[in-house]
Amino acid sequence: MIPDLISFVGNTPLVELELPFSSSSIRLFAKLEMFNPGGSIKDRPALFMIQQAIAAGGITRDSHLIESSSGNLAIAIAMIAQQMNLRFTAVIDPNITKTNRDLIKAYRAEIELVEEKDREGGYLNSRIRRVRQLLEELPGAVWLNQYANPDNQRAHYEGVGAEIVRDMPIEPSHAFIGVSTCGTIMGVARRLREAWPNIRIVAVDVTGSVIFGAPSAKRWLPGIGASRIPEQLDAREIDEIVYVTDWESVLGCHQLVRYEGLLAGGSSGSVIAAIEKMAPRLPSRAVIVTVLPDRGERYLDSVYDPDWLAESDRIKCPVDAAHRSLGEIGDSRNAS
Ligand code: PMP
Repeated sequence: MIPDLISFVGNTPLVELELPFSSSSIRLFAKLEMFNPGGSIKDRPALFMIQQAIAAGGITRDSHLIESSSGNLAIAIAMIAQQMNLRFTAVIDPNITKTNRDLIKAYRAEIELVEEKDREGGYLNSRIRRVRQLLEELPGAVWLNQYANPDNQRAHYEGVGAEIVRDMPIEPSHAFIGVSTCGTIMGVARRLREAWPNIRIVAVDVTGSVIFGAPSAKRWLPGIGASRIPEQLDAREIDEIVYVTDWESVLGCHQLVRYEGLLAGGSSGSVIAAIEKMAPRLPSRAVIVTVLPDRGERYLDSVYDPDWLAESDRIKCPVDAAHRSLGEIGDSRNAS
């Protein structure tokens, strides 16, 4: 029998990367989550949370799925909901990128836009308030709740985590994982530590995210960081935290294109920037595994748009310096 689309969620490729800072003393392996049919790692928790809820009777043919997401999770749920013939409403806010909004609409999801900021000055708590209202108002409404649903991190424990353990040709010393809801890092950390008890789990967060207690500030890249501490974060699973800026993440993305031909999303650049930052402090013969969470196409109007980058206020980097840095990424390859 020919398998259907959602059977292609997961089992993504694991590749070895050769970036200028990964030399004979550092080996770097990356799980390419852009190969999921919905374009991101979020296909995994979306599918797993829905399947588990169906098995438990929480989702039936008459259910109407609700989720607060401005990004990959909403796109993933929208794709799966179409295939399963379920209604889906994505609760979003004005910070959503135009591309993500267009994608969610293209997958025929309904959109509920929250415009009122919460007391913290962001939209996350307002979005969650709106979700709670919709649960009262809409017949058959079911909230998947990626922030607290244990099936979010279980999807990663059973998925990315188990696949890394299966596919790594050598024992990793470090795993670098970007954080937002923390589902990925929690699930992957638990699975990898079972296989390799000495592995060091490094969380990659962006400046301006409050997940680990740093002050809140404007962030420009979707997908990574959060304005609220996720319920499922268990800091005991994390050995180190590395902060990168939006601009460092952008440079990381451009390095992936330049040296690997990989067009990846903003948070993929974040993990690459974090590894580069920590490289001088890593033991020799470090073996790193990381996860590149999504495709670059949905960032053509940001990370890969020279006009967007040129608005220096966004990236906290003078325009000239920005263009010089991007140019140097190319030059250093030519010189080697
Ligand atoms: N990168 C991207 C592009 C994402 O969409 C997400 C999920 N928001 C993450 C990283 C972080 O994953 P998690 O929510 O599991 O912490």
